[in-house]
Amino acid sequence: GFDDSVLICDEVDPILNKILEDNDLKISYEPEITPDQILEKISNYNIVIVRSRTTITKEMIDKADNCKIIARVGVGLDNVDQEAAKIKNIRVINAVEGAMNAVAELVLGLMLSLARQTARGDRGIRNGQWLKKELKGTELKGKYLGIIGLGNIGKRLGRLARALNMNIIGYDVVPIDEEFSKEVGLMKADLNTLLQSSDYISIHVPLLDSTYHLLDAQKMSTMKKTAKIINTSRGGVVDEDALYDALKNGTLGGAALDVFEKEPAVGTKLAELDNVILTPHIGAQTKEAQSLAANVIAEKIIQILRG
Ligand code: NAD
Repeated sequence: GFDDSVLICDEVDPILNKILEDNDLKISYEPEITPDQILEKISNYNIVIVRSRTTITKEMIDKADNCKIIARVGVGLDNVDQEAAKIKNIRVINAVEGAMNAVAELVLGLMLSLARQTARGDRGIRNGQWLKKELKGTELKGKYLGIIGLGNIGKRLGRLARALNMNIIGYDVVPIDEEFSKEVGLMKADLNTLLQSSDYISIHVPLLDSTYHLLDAQKMSTMKKTAKIINTSRGGVVDEDALYDALKNGTLGGAALDVFEKEPAVGTKLAELDNVILTPHIGAQTKEAQSLAANVIAEKIIQILRG
């Protein structure tokens, strides 16, 4: 076994604690810990684990003199200052496998909800309205789905959508997996062509300087008036003010957002609009995804400690 000390800063699947404890690691499980408390005690730990509630800042990392590993039980690493960690020689690890199917299935559900306006129909009934006439929908079959970013999640979505007989258009900054392309009959395109041709546009890129407001007012103006945007990547990738204007003015058909520039997004003006579906960052919130991510992180930590 090992005698390293571990600080777990967010709620994680109990399997993670169990595997680490079975390997004799000493765990402080503090899912409610505040940034000030982290600053105070981070120097005592060899391993720091977060999910998405906690942000590990440069200031914290500067104090983390005994830290070897920062682990994110999830995919996006934008809540860890990776530059600062690199300078201090701290390994930063994540679990890309966990969320792949969970997020792709959420997108599929959001597309179906956008096509048939199930959320609006539900709201209607709760408010005493029978909106049958207003809710004439469309079908996904035969529609064009543009996927921006064909990594783990983008590819899984492509496969699921292909099963519904959608046509898949793909854009990425790196070469796209050939086997996947053949399997789904992928039409590769540059970003502008994808935006102009798609009925649904789903974004699966990380939040980077180069992807900040990747979809802005100018880009939105080139899309079909009926196009629907689904964003389950990161809030900053879509310009929310521009999206609000386009949806309100009818120059876009609809949107489904699981991620926001500011979270929690309760009170967002997008909630005024009927052609929008909003979910509270639940992409990876499934039993299966959380337990898979916890297992992957535990295994990675143990492998690193073994050297
Ligand atoms: P991934 O790294 O496997 O794939 C990302 C892809 O985006 C890569 O192929 C990359 O080349 C591509 N890319 C990068 N910059 C691009 C650009 N400017 N234009 C086009 N493509 C670009 O990541 P993944 O596992 O598929 O996850 C994608 C993102 O989803 C994550 O970075 C994370 O932010 C987000 N995510 C959200 C949730 C949620 O709860 N909603 C859960 C997991 C992941």
